[in-house]
Amino acid sequence: MVEIRGVHKSFGTLEVLRGIDLNVPVGEVTVILGPSGSGKSTLLRTINHLEKADSGWISVDGSLIGYRRSGDKLYELREREVLRQRTRIGFVFQNFNLFPHLTVLENIVEAPVSALKRPRKDAVAAARRLLSRVGLDDKADAYPKQLSGGQQQRVAIARALALEPRLLLFDEPTSALDPELVGEVLDVIKDLAHQGTTMIVVTHEIGFAREVADTVVFMDEGRVVEQGPPAAVLDAPRHERTKAFLSKVL
Ligand code: ATP
Ligand code: MG
Repeated sequence: MVEIRGVHKSFGTLEVLRGIDLNVPVGEVTVILGPSGSGKSTLLRTINHLEKADSGWISVDGSLIGYRRSGDKLYELREREVLRQRTRIGFVFQNFNLFPHLTVLENIVEAPVSALKRPRKDAVAAARRLLSRVGLDDKADAYPKQLSGGQQQRVAIARALALEPRLLLFDEPTSALDPELVGEVLDVIKDLAHQGTTMIVVTHEIGFAREVADTVVFMDEGRVVEQGPPAAVLDAPRHERTKAFLSKVL
């Protein structure tokens, strides 16, 4: 379970998150929609403590992210402890962010070996299983630049899964792809959803949201304007701003 309570975040005088409250139950998929600049990426980055909230808190499976509670006081975790928390939260970016100088297999093996201290042999075997799961058995020895965008993104998903995350965050995973490659990446994410992976997905793929999301959240100007099952938020939105946004993306 992911719990987000009263999260505020400003950059200078710009208030980007203005009190976010959200629950994501274990095994559920939450899709976040909202206009450019509404704070979606900042919220994901805050969950992973890549950005530090100015106030409020976030917990994943009962662990506060970035802090330790002692009595009624909060103490900041050290960088090493934050990194350890972060290894259990997978993050898939819009632009794949693969290591260009490493093969596909090495991209996947790197973190389990260096961060989780897995024996290399086990990490390689696990990486091959993950490549097969994302339909890329034959690409283990290729370099990222030899792959299509859709294939690179599937490698990025396999790399995130290699850390056995308890939560996966996706930030517009298909928006940098040519239209004909979007489906193959969404299919992999759908498979994960059907296997009960807890996920928060920022995307404007409304069809995907309708099919896969347990909850759709509409954000605007740093606030959650509306949330609920896809049928409610997408087909019968109650707020004008949600209606206006959907009329543009549908
Ligand atoms: P998009 O749909 O375009 O990706 P978004 O909803 O993900 O938008 P954010 O990237 O969270 O929006 O950005 C929200 C606001 O915060 C924007 O106005 C952005 O310029 C600003 N912002 C984000 N990161 C920083 C930063 N590190 N420093 C200053 N301003 C920032
Ligand atoms: Mg964004």
